[in-house]
Amino acid sequence: MSLYPSEEIIPVKKVVLATRNVGKIEEFDRMLRNAQLDIQVLGLRDFPDMPEVDETGSTFEENALLKAREISSFTHLPSLADDSGLCVDALNGAPGIFSARWAGTHGDDKANLEKVLRELSELDNPSMGAQFQCAVALVFPHTHANAGLEVVHQREIVGEIVVVPRGTNGFGYDPIFQPHGYSETTAELAAEHKDQISHRGKALQAMLPDLRRLL
Ligand code: IMP
Repeated sequence: MSLYPSEEIIPVKKVVLATRNVGKIEEFDRMLRNAQLDIQVLGLRDFPDMPEVDETGSTFEENALLKAREISSFTHLPSLADDSGLCVDALNGAPGIFSARWAGTHGDDKANLEKVLRELSELDNPSMGAQFQCAVALVFPHTHANAGLEVVHQREIVGEIVVVPRGTNGFGYDPIFQPHGYSETTAELAAEHKDQISHRGKALQAMLPDLRRLL
């Protein structure tokens, strides 16, 4: 019998969330808490010496795996990484894997979003179709029983670009992305509502059984 009340038992299973993006951390935190996994989720702030990972892949899946592999090998812990972005039909899928730095400076959400709107405004009667894509990768360190195993789930949410940004929730391109079947942008939806339908929410949902089974 334990000497401690159950809520004080420290979970032995750990995973490192491989992102410094505050918007993503909030979404992952919330979704993992709601999933009630008996897992301690660490962030990169717990590993301040972790070097930046170069996203040299040419797909969301490759970049998610690159990040998860490097962070797992640095921390010696299982690592969960996502790579995500907005793909606009009329821009041939851009900004895609370059979404975070589309206007030049990494993470300048406002400039990135304005650049997409500017590029669309320069086209003649463009299709406004677009998708958010998200690949989530889980990688294990060489010391783990599941070393060598790599799991990836990729999901999307389909919608369209609105030319006048609306809403203050979320991050990135949320103010200009309206999912199909909705009259709100993802920046106007409540956070938990976005989690249920979003690319990231669905990819993480697909990963939950793997986290429960493999960590
Ligand atoms: P990553 O950190 O290289 O995966 O870049 C992801 C970028 O894609 C973010 O910085 C945003 O610009 C964009 N993005 C990804 N997911 C979302 C989302 O859920 N809402 C809005 N923008 C997103």
